[in-house]
Amino acid sequence: MTFKTPSQISAFIKQAAHDAGFELAGIASVRRHPELEHFEPWVAAGYAGEMKYMKARDETGNLKRASLDSAVPWARSVIVCAINYNTAQPYSTAFNHPGHGWISRYAWSMEDYHEAVMRRLREVESRLRQESARLQEELQTRCYVDTGPLVERVYAKYAGIGWIGKNTCILNQKLGSWLFLGVILTSIELEPDLPAPDRCGTCTRCIDACPTDAFVGPYQLDSNRCISYLTIEKRGEIPEDLRAGMGRHVFGCDICQDVCPWNRKAPTTAAPEFYPREELINPAIDWLAGMSADEFRNVFRRSPVRRAKHEGLRRNAIIAIGNSGDRRFLPLLERVLNDPDPVISEHANWAKDRLSAETEGLGGPA
Ligand code: SF4
Ligand code: SF4
Repeated sequence: MTFKTPSQISAFIKQAAHDAGFELAGIASVRRHPELEHFEPWVAAGYAGEMKYMKARDETGNLKRASLDSAVPWARSVIVCAINYNTAQPYSTAFNHPGHGWISRYAWSMEDYHEAVMRRLREVESRLRQESARLQEELQTRCYVDTGPLVERVYAKYAGIGWIGKNTCILNQKLGSWLFLGVILTSIELEPDLPAPDRCGTCTRCIDACPTDAFVGPYQLDSNRCISYLTIEKRGEIPEDLRAGMGRHVFGCDICQDVCPWNRKAPTTAAPEFYPREELINPAIDWLAGMSADEFRNVFRRSPVRRAKHEGLRRNAIIAIGNSGDRRFLPLLERVLNDPDPVISEHANWAKDRLSAETEGLGGPA
């Protein structure tokens, strides 16, 4: 490579990432890192649930996300950038606001994080391109936020951003795990960083705290049992045996990050786009359950919550009502028992039975 020296270009990229507002940036090589070998058996075991993008294969039958070298043959290096989105609000594990639910911390923001992270990635990409043009170097690049043919956290590990925790999140020793990741693939061979060492040790707090027993072991998650998957990705009915464990989570779940000791002193974000919208912190569950399609579109216009869709968020809010132990919600449930959407009416029947059983002293929310 004639593009300066490897360490100079690495420093240039990290400075550009810092200038764009990323707290962390590093470089990984495009290789089949050992962790990617777990991806095929994980998909084969059905742990990806209904997430088609996880299971997409190329024409040779390889899982696209586990074979970046064949999905993007010109790519030589992966620049991984990370930005902190934590805010000062208490964790879900410290929250007990009756009649209210929980939206995952990452989805409180003023702007969809995909757009905010992509805008910053483009700044880094543009600096890199200007520099390569100045040096008359050929350069191909491609930016991704969540949508690339790669398992981002594996490359984040090899870029030195952090280690992959037993909760399957990327953890940084100083920043914790409230990190959005963005990647830039480049056609030039860059000097890779050293992978971050695993600092989970003997801790198993995340595994022990999961209310739906979604971990099939350390570092391995069955998405079908994860509240995050169930409330965001799963369409239609939610398996009945998992509903009680979902508590009042209406979009995502932060528990396995909230209990992590590395998040105890996690700093808060400096990026204004990630400042929370007050109405999304502990939202009233009857507000969400009764929301019209128009209101859903307006409230969540620029929010990741759109991914759950209107009917999905209502379904989740009805489960939260069933788990609320609050009989004030019974009239609301009565009104949706015959909802034209069979999923809504089935969940409303379940929630009514659960609330009634609770208030009749026959058992209910733990
Ligand atoms: S996000 Fe929640 S449900 Fe999913 S693994 Fe973590 S604690 Fe369990
Ligand atoms: S809770 Fe413990 S085991 Fe889980 S990710 Fe954090 S340090 Fe690792």
